[in-house]
Amino acid sequence: MYDPKSLKAADFINHEEVEDTLAYAEKNKNNVELIDQILEKARLQKGLTHREASVLLACDIPEKVQEYFDLAQKIKQDYYGNRIVLFAPLYLSNYCVNGCVYCPYHAKNKHIPRKKLTQEDIVREVTALQDMGHKRLAIEAGEDPVNNPIEYILECIKTIYSIKHKNGAIRRVNVNIAATTVENYRKLKDAGIGTYILFQETYHKESYEKLHPTGPKHNYEYHTEAMDRAMEGGIDDVGLGVLFGLELYKYEFAALLMHAEHLEAVHGVGPHTISVPRIKHADDIDPNAFDNSISDDIFAKLCALIRIAVPYTGMIISTRESQAVREKVIPLGISQISGASRTSVGGYCEPEPEDESSEQFDVSDKRTLDQVVNWLMKDMHYIPSFCTACYREGRTGDRFMALCKSKQILNCCHPNALMTLKEYLVDYASPDTRAVGEALIEKELLNIPNEKVRRIAAEHIAEIENGKRDFRF
Ligand code: SAM
Repeated sequence: MYDPKSLKAADFINHEEVEDTLAYAEKNKNNVELIDQILEKARLQKGLTHREASVLLACDIPEKVQEYFDLAQKIKQDYYGNRIVLFAPLYLSNYCVNGCVYCPYHAKNKHIPRKKLTQEDIVREVTALQDMGHKRLAIEAGEDPVNNPIEYILECIKTIYSIKHKNGAIRRVNVNIAATTVENYRKLKDAGIGTYILFQETYHKESYEKLHPTGPKHNYEYHTEAMDRAMEGGIDDVGLGVLFGLELYKYEFAALLMHAEHLEAVHGVGPHTISVPRIKHADDIDPNAFDNSISDDIFAKLCALIRIAVPYTGMIISTRESQAVREKVIPLGISQISGASRTSVGGYCEPEPEDESSEQFDVSDKRTLDQVVNWLMKDMHYIPSFCTACYREGRTGDRFMALCKSKQILNCCHPNALMTLKEYLVDYASPDTRAVGEALIEKELLNIPNEKVRRIAAEHIAEIENGKRDFRF
């Protein structure tokens, strides 16, 4: 039975409820009266239920689609302003005991080089990431209790936080590792992680079990209930995601929103972020072997409707997507993007030789961080942000949501974004990026509504120019 408050996957991602939702959406996809009611509710910017959002996803009436695209842009602007937060992934190890059929790290792949970073490797990799200007990392690892036990992950986190090179520092480490125990989540929390990210891959149980034929990840319930264990272990910020292409996108969309509703119902706080990866070519993986790939247009609809359905949840898009796709979807609600990513184990400090590639998947957006920052400012008219202040000030979970819901981002995140951008410009930017950025900061300072906040931000920016760096952004 469908019950968002239940802790059992079968109840909160109830298959019959997803199927009923899809049938309801299909039946009502041309019901203009209902669609207008849903759009009216959406305009209140407080979100939609999985049923309501699914009706919009099913609807193909061009004017209505345009209406929700416009609304998604407005919600993004109202809640997040024109900031985009930047991060990079850091692959620690590709040893893996699972059999995920879409991932080249699957245990049966005997030819991919297996690599695991030593603590010395991490110092080199993180120094290279700091030298680009990164302040926020997402660490990634395969699941292997012998090669990548939790103690190894914890040691890596400690090393990452300890590295201080020139003016560099990694101020927030998000973690994307396999579903684990409450006890291990507590250890991650104590290690000072930011968001715990775990992609569901697919919410469709039968497909999930086929796509994960072997290894601990085969257990659908254990995987689907992981976020509840993470929250029980004290982690406030969790990041959801679906690997689009594995199953029917309408099914995934409804179930993803049901998962968000479940977290809100049980823990009083929804997901901190939602990621929208699509399957990519990788070593022995051909994305065409999966029947459910989605077009760029449907991808854009999904991004817009996630933005509308869960306005307080950040949305992440990675370098799996090309510059062109990123240009299309960022305005529809994305709040974080990765830049200059390597999906290999190592590769930031020195690129891997081609015949030794340990990449998890092909990256489409191959630009440097400086190019991405420059493009965000010059072509996209966004403020690239390296801010991690919320996390450092303890504004996680419902405290962050309160900031977002009260639309205080312009007085809080906006100045922090400008100050961290200033750090980036002074310490790492090319001359052109610096010139573009300085002009942008001058203009954007004027958009801080509170006069006192504006003055303090301007003072801090002047101090950064003169070498001061120990702010808590
Ligand atoms: N091993 C962890 C787990 O099981 O969740 C960490 C995840 S992995 C390093 C990060 C994510 O990459 C996976 O959750 C999956 O969604 C995605 N991924 C795997 N293979 C992919 C592919 N061929 N193309 C795009 N994304 C892929």
